[in-house]
Amino acid sequence: MAKSHSGKVSTVGGNAPAAVQDAGAGELPVVVVLSTGGTIAGRGGSSTSLTEYTAGSILGSELINAVPEISQYANVRVEQISNIGSANMNTAIWLKLAARINAIFAEDPKVAGVVVTHGTSTLEETGYFLHLTVKHDRPVVLVGAQRPATAISADGPLNLLNAIRTAGAPVARGKGVLVVMNDEINGARDVTKSNTYRVEAFRSGELGLLGYVDPDQVSFYRASTKRHTARSEFDVGGLSSLPKVEILYAYAEPGTVAIKALAGSGVDGIVFAGTGAGALSDSGRAAIEALGLNPADQKPVIVRSSRTGNGRVIPRKEYDAEGMVAGDNLNPQKARILLMLALTKTRDLQEIRRIFTEY
Ligand code: ASP
Repeated sequence: MAKSHSGKVSTVGGNAPAAVQDAGAGELPVVVVLSTGGTIAGRGGSSTSLTEYTAGSILGSELINAVPEISQYANVRVEQISNIGSANMNTAIWLKLAARINAIFAEDPKVAGVVVTHGTSTLEETGYFLHLTVKHDRPVVLVGAQRPATAISADGPLNLLNAIRTAGAPVARGKGVLVVMNDEINGARDVTKSNTYRVEAFRSGELGLLGYVDPDQVSFYRASTKRHTARSEFDVGGLSSLPKVEILYAYAEPGTVAIKALAGSGVDGIVFAGTGAGALSDSGRAAIEALGLNPADQKPVIVRSSRTGNGRVIPRKEYDAEGMVAGDNLNPQKARILLMLALTKTRDLQEIRRIFTEY
C-alpha cells in the first residue's frame, strides 16, 4: 500500500482508497487517543516474552508513533490518562475518562471520534461505563492487545490502526461505545473477554459482533437497541465517587460467611453471579434476612445476574418479593456498573427495575 502526498491510500486492484471510504471524501478525520495502559502498552524482556512483561510501560504517543500508517487515515492527538494494568482500573479513572471525552466532544466539533487504549482484563467494564455516561453520538472505541508491544507478532499495532479507522468512520456514529480487536467490532454492552491469551478474546456471546474492520472499509451489520450515550439518563459530571457495589459468585453448597459479611458491610448494592437463571441458595437468602437490615437505607440493593454467560435473568415473584432486581442479560460485571449508575439517581426498586429493562 503506497501513500500519496494528499494523505490518501492507493490500493492494488483499482478499489477506492480505504481512507476515503472510511471517512468520506475530503479531509482526514481528527481522532483523539486517550491512553490508559494495559498489554497494548506492555514491555517485555524479549520478543518471545509473551506472558512475562509489564503492562502500562509505554506511552500512548510512542504507540501512535510506532504505527506510521495511521497518518493515512486520521489526524491524531494523544493524551495520557494513566498507565496501568487494567486489573487496577478504578472509578476515579472512569470518571476522568467520561469527563474528558464529554469535554472533547463539547469543545471541538472537528473531532470525529475518540479511541481509548486499555488493558483487556477490565476493558469491557470501562467500555460499558462510557457507553452509559458519554453524552454524544460520535464514536468512542476501546482497544487493547493480547500480546505486549515488544512481542513478536504483537497484535496492538493493527488493533490500534483499526480502532482509529473505526473512530473516524461516519458509519460508526450513534452505535454507542465500541470495542475493536482482532479486526472485529463489538458493542460495549454485550462484549466480554472470553479467552485468557488468544487474540480472538473478545466475544459478544450468542448476540454476536456488530461488524468488521477490513482493508477496504469499516462495515456494520447490526447495532444494539438498548439506551446508551446520547440517550442515556446518567450524568456523572458532578460526581467524584460512585456508589459501592460488589459481586458475589454462586456455586453449589456455598458458605454464608461472604454473603453475611458483604450484606452487613454497608455496601450500596450486591450483584449475584447466580447459578443458572440467576438462582440464589436458600441458605444465602436466609443469611441476608437474618441480618434484619432496613430495606429503605441499610439493606443493599440486590441484582440477580447469571454466571452462565448467555440468556436473560427474568423477574420472578419469589425473588421480587424479597426486593431483588433481575439483571436481564447483562453479565455480572456489567450489571454492577448499571447498578452503580442507577444508585446515583435512586434507591427506588421500581425505578431500578425500569433501568435494568432499558439499558
Ligand atoms: N494485564 C493486562 C491488562 O492491563 C492484560 C491485557 O491488557 O491484555 O489488563
